[in-house]
Amino acid sequence: MSDRLPGFSTLAVHAGAQPDPTTGARATPIYQTTSFVFNDADHAASLFGLQAFGNIYTRIGNPTNAVLEERVAALEGGTAALAVASGHAAQVVVLQQLLQPGDEFIAARKLYGGSINQFTHAFKSFGWNVVWADPDDISSFERAVTPRTKAIFIESIANPAGSITDIEAISTVARKAGVPLIVDNTLASPYLIRPIDHGADIVVHSLTKFLGGHGNSLGGIIVDAGTFDWSTGGKYPMLSEPRPEYHGIRLQETFGNFAFAIACRVLGLRDLGPALSPFNAFMILTGIETLPLRMQRHCDNAKAVAEYLAGHPAVASVSYAGLPNDKYNQLARKYAPKGAGAVFTFSLKGGYDAGVSLVSKLQLFSHLANVGDTRSLVIHPASTTHSQLDDAAKVKSGAGPDVVRLSVGIEDKEDLIADLEQALSA
Ligand SMILES: *Cc1c(COP(=O)(O)O)cnc(C)c1O
Repeated sequence: MSDRLPGFSTLAVHAGAQPDPTTGARATPIYQTTSFVFNDADHAASLFGLQAFGNIYTRIGNPTNAVLEERVAALEGGTAALAVASGHAAQVVVLQQLLQPGDEFIAARKLYGGSINQFTHAFKSFGWNVVWADPDDISSFERAVTPRTKAIFIESIANPAGSITDIEAISTVARKAGVPLIVDNTLASPYLIRPIDHGADIVVHSLTKFLGGHGNSLGGIIVDAGTFDWSTGGKYPMLSEPRPEYHGIRLQETFGNFAFAIACRVLGLRDLGPALSPFNAFMILTGIETLPLRMQRHCDNAKAVAEYLAGHPAVASVSYAGLPNDKYNQLARKYAPKGAGAVFTFSLKGGYDAGVSLVSKLQLFSHLANVGDTRSLVIHPASTTHSQLDDAAKVKSGAGPDVVRLSVGIEDKEDLIADLEQALSA
């Protein structure tokens, strides 16, 4: 072996995986089992007491899922990861380790519509209060900090318009406030942006999107950067205080720079229960092997489609950070030099009716609520994913009535442009 560190594409294929020690199987097997036999009573007791690592029960961990966790941790440059059932499950598990009832977290206003719902309604019922800030105005994050603030949550490439967030600037605000920065890296994937390199303390993903990549399996993951000191000021008791569930051990003291990932597993996943099925872990692992190839193609196609739309007379504006005159182009050059992703919006001169009509006329683009599929997808956010917001909030979050969102797939770009051409001229 050379002492060269493996590159991103090599890690995407190999990180975390070995030939199966019993059978020699080269692809990672699906360990479709609920539970694992203990060697003896002492082994069982040490696993339950967190004195030894090993498999107990698939709700807490599974060998197929473990390969996925190691692979994504390697791709993101984190110390450890935890796979869960969905992107939303990842968000619940992360915040459960950080917030007590009555606490606050600051979130960027430009987010996946489902996250806006989850933060506004479901989390409120847990006593976790979201405070919104504007990712285009860093000072709005500073102003939102209070003594009860426990975290800041942003997307690297933000829904729905594919805008680029200044991760380093917001990380500076988080450092000053003494709270971790959580980055939802779903739309970028680590191929385009590695938030930990820019100061993120925790990265979350919906694996359902570009990492799985084929629109066939739900999953989520939490990556621990290992950078945050949880012991200061008693602010994070789940990590710094003795845990009664585990004979009084303190997770930060015992597990150091992967304590957060451990907390998510042994307090969050164990007790809340959103485990990822090993079958889905296998599907997502297979998807990740081609992530660099797919992601580059997604970006190249998206840029071609954005350029075509920008020159079309029926189109009022295109919001794609990969276009040289876009508001986010400077940030895109800095954070995502390989490409500005494949999800973006454009607005039609004909407004709401034109948006609804376009969506119904497209044939190759599927009209559905998802992103990050091999197939090209289209949706009209104002009537679907962002319909719960009032008109002003729709516009603020980038989902005004005239806006159409695309997730550009890996088909031939000429065919995608031809489909848009027939739908726009109809
Ligand atoms: C889809 C998505 C989520 C939620 O993930 P699920 O796997 O659907 O639960 C969160 N954030 C972003 C950016 C997403 O695109």
